[in-house]
Amino acid sequence: MKQNKRISNTPKYLFAEIDKKKAASIARGVDLIDLSIGDPDQPTPKYIIDSMKKALDDPSTHNYPPYEGTKDFRTAVSKWYKKRFNVDLDPESEVMSLIGSKEGIAHMIFALIDPGDVSLVPDPSYPVYKVCTILAGGTPHMLPLKKENGFLPDLDSIDAQTLKKAKLMFINYPNNPTSATASREFLEKAVKFCKKNDIILCSDLAYSEVCFGNYAAESILQIPGAKDIAVEFHSLSKTFNMTGWRIGMAVGSKDAIKALAIIKTNVDSGAFKAIQKAAIDALNGPEGFTKGMNLIYEKRMKAMIDGLNSIGWKLDHTKATFYVWVPVPKGYTSASFCEVLLEKCGVLVVPGSGYGESGEGYVRFCITADESRIKEAIQRIKSEGIRGDQLKALKN
Ligand SMILES: *Cc1c(COP(=O)(O)O)cnc(C)c1O
Repeated sequence: MKQNKRISNTPKYLFAEIDKKKAASIARGVDLIDLSIGDPDQPTPKYIIDSMKKALDDPSTHNYPPYEGTKDFRTAVSKWYKKRFNVDLDPESEVMSLIGSKEGIAHMIFALIDPGDVSLVPDPSYPVYKVCTILAGGTPHMLPLKKENGFLPDLDSIDAQTLKKAKLMFINYPNNPTSATASREFLEKAVKFCKKNDIILCSDLAYSEVCFGNYAAESILQIPGAKDIAVEFHSLSKTFNMTGWRIGMAVGSKDAIKALAIIKTNVDSGAFKAIQKAAIDALNGPEGFTKGMNLIYEKRMKAMIDGLNSIGWKLDHTKATFYVWVPVPKGYTSASFCEVLLEKCGVLVVPGSGYGESGEGYVRFCITADESRIKEAIQRIKSEGIRGDQLKALKN
C-alpha cells in the first residue's frame, strides 16, 4: 500500500497499546488486577436496558435518525441541563446528539481547525485533543498542568503570537487523568480569556456526575455569557455505565454547533434512535442510581488513596472522577514504574507520559475494579517492598 503521512505520523492510541500488554500478561497466566482504563465495571442500570428493549421493538426507531438528534432527545438534554445546572439551552440550535463525546470532540476539531491554526491543549490530557488537532493539520500548543497550580493551566503564560493563531481551547474538569476540579473563579477566567482572544472554549464534562461527598461539578455554561464562545461535550458513558452504547451531546455556542453539524452530516448519519430513546429515559431517570454509584466509587477511592498513603505516598483525597494521579517513586519513569507494577505485582496502570510530556513522573490508577481487588493490589505492591517515599533499589 502507498504510504499515507496522516497515518504514519499518528502515534498509536494509548489504550490500544495497553490492551496488548494486558492480553500478553493474561496469556502468561497472571492474575491481573486491571486498574488501567476508565471504563465502568458495573452494568448499565436495568431501567435503561428495559427502555432500550422496548425501543428496539418499535419499528419507527429502525430507519436513519435525524443528523442533529431526535427532537425528543435534544429536548431531554435541554431539560436535564436546566435541572442539573440551571442552564437554559434551545433544543433547536444549542444541542446536538453525538456518537459518544469522543466523536464530537474529534469532529469539532475538524470543524474549527484549518492547517496552520493552533489549539490550546492541556498537558496531560485525553489524547484526542492533541492527536485530532494534528490530523486536522493544526498545531497543538500544550498548556502544562502543574500540581502547584492545582492542575489548572496558566492562561497568562501563552504568548501573543500563539494566541493570534489559536482557534480553540480545551478544558476538562473534573479532570482525566489528574482528578483535579476547577473553581468557579477559574471557569470565569477561562470564559473571559476566550472572549478576549476570540477562541472557542471546548469544555469536556465527561465526569460531571462522578462526584463525591457534597461536591457537584459545574458546567462552563453556568458562567454568564459563556454560550457566546463555549461548547460543552457530555455523554452518558461514565454517568450511566454506558460506554459501549455510544451516545453523547454537544451543547452551547450556536456557531460552534452549526460548524460541527456541517462536518457530521458529511461523515456520519447520527445515533441509533433506539439508543436515543433509552438515553432520554436515562436522563429522566431516578437520581438514586448515580448517587449509589458514587458511594461505591467513593469507598473504592478511599481504599486506594489510604492504601497508597499507608506505603509512603502523600496523596490528597479527590472530589471527583475515578482516577488517582500518583507520582512515581524516585528513580523511576512513568513507563518503568508501570512495567514494575505489571511484572512484579500483576497490577496494570497507565503511564502518565501517555497523556503528554507533563505527565512524565506520574502513573494513573483507576478505581473501576472491586474494593477487594484494589486492596489486593495495594497488598501486592507492599509485599514487593515498593514504597512511594523510597528511592528505587539499585539492581546488582
Ligand atoms: C471517557 C472520556 C471521554 C469520552 O467518552 P465517550 O464514551 O466518547 O462519551 C471524553 N473525555 C474524557 C476526558 C474521557 O475520559
